[in-house]
Amino acid sequence: MTAPGGSPEEQPDPVRRPSVGVPAEAGADEQRVALTPAAVGSLEKAGLAAVVESGAGMAAGYPDSAYAERGAAVGKREDAFAADLVAMVRVVAGDPASPDLQRLRPGQIVVGMAAPLAAPDLAEAVAATGVTLFSLELLPRTTRAQPMDVLSSQASVAGYKAVLLAAGALPKMFPMMTTAAGTLAPARVFVVGAGVAGLAAIAAARRLGAVVEAYDVRPAVKEEVQSLGARFVEIELETGQDGSGSGAYAAQMTEETLRKQRELMTRVVAASDVVITTAQVQGARAPVLVTVDMVAGMAPGSVIVDLAAAQGGNCELSRAGETVEVGGVRIVGPRDLAATVPHHASQLYGKNLANFIQLLVDGGRLSPPADDDIVRETTVAAGGSVVHPRVLEVLGHAPPPAAEPAAAPAEVPR
Ligand code: NAD
Repeated sequence: MTAPGGSPEEQPDPVRRPSVGVPAEAGADEQRVALTPAAVGSLEKAGLAAVVESGAGMAAGYPDSAYAERGAAVGKREDAFAADLVAMVRVVAGDPASPDLQRLRPGQIVVGMAAPLAAPDLAEAVAATGVTLFSLELLPRTTRAQPMDVLSSQASVAGYKAVLLAAGALPKMFPMMTTAAGTLAPARVFVVGAGVAGLAAIAAARRLGAVVEAYDVRPAVKEEVQSLGARFVEIELETGQDGSGSGAYAAQMTEETLRKQRELMTRVVAASDVVITTAQVQGARAPVLVTVDMVAGMAPGSVIVDLAAAQGGNCELSRAGETVEVGGVRIVGPRDLAATVPHHASQLYGKNLANFIQLLVDGGRLSPPADDDIVRETTVAAGGSVVHPRVLEVLGHAPPPAAEPAAAPAEVPR
């Protein structure tokens, strides 16, 4: 392992600093890195020592030399996994049989995205190693947690990239163009779900010159949609959603309300060249908003990009990780679009992660404050077991007596 300025033997640290390991991501399509050189620099300033696996940042455009310049030691995979805290994007690549589980040991901290509600078996496998696992998808949606919110940061990247995928697949251009050979009409883009990803998609589609319409069940987003230059599609529905939802998530709607929504959206979908769907409901399958019949009503050459494909899909015909073509309409169901823009996605993720890790440092030691709502709500496993009440529920286990359901956040959700 090469440490900048010489080996640890030459420059002994009088007080051993807690170490943060950054292994290369093991997932086949994962090009992101958990911490960028800048994020490592901020952790070094906070008194932590970073150990980065050689090549971990290469696919995202962050060479070993950039880490070394920020004070990190560059070493082998074992070195990164030997750290006090191991930082990952996808925890052990989402694989409950990952060989990396053998590299973890009791007392270590693991931070990353483990999708514990969707993949509780992975949470169990990680718990069995004895580490304390923090999964950042479980962050409360409070103002204080916002700088750590990996779902939001990665959704912004995904929303932007969804527009590029649609533009690439559409046999038309997005902007209006007046030429000597005639005038081309702008593409019409309909964004369903105007949360973080949806708003990024609206902004990107507008920048490319498309005419954009958008809809969300939370009427509070209407002004944000309009401020980005899109038209908010008015659909009269009794959703009972005041815009803030529970912690800013949309609540699940009844099948009858969803049926009415689909009926009222049919005309807009048929008139659109591109439909980008981003609608999600936390802890539930994504609502089906675009049916087979609605797809049949679209002109050949039209494109649907379904950002909820991995959560069951907003379009009935979506298949996660695939593009299907039905009646000349292409339905793209990307799994993890943020991973396809690895440089900026890692920059945002790394900053989120560094902010979270700093919360775990107290007096130069790694010491997660148990009374902190952010720490409590993201703790999935500790002491050899899964401890998070919602993950235990998904696993079909009763919560342990000590694991009280997380109290309401001290702050008002945004
Ligand atoms: P999300 O990924 O859970 O859902 C995406 C969007 O789909 C949401 O806007 C939701 O209202 C919408 N949706 C759900 N069902 C729908 C349906 N049937 N039809 C149409 N749209 C539907 O949400 P998100 O994008 O992560 O965030 C939603 C909101 O929460 C945003 O306003 C965001 O700013 C806020 N937020 C706040 C924090 C925080 O304060 N820490 C963190 C993240 C998000």
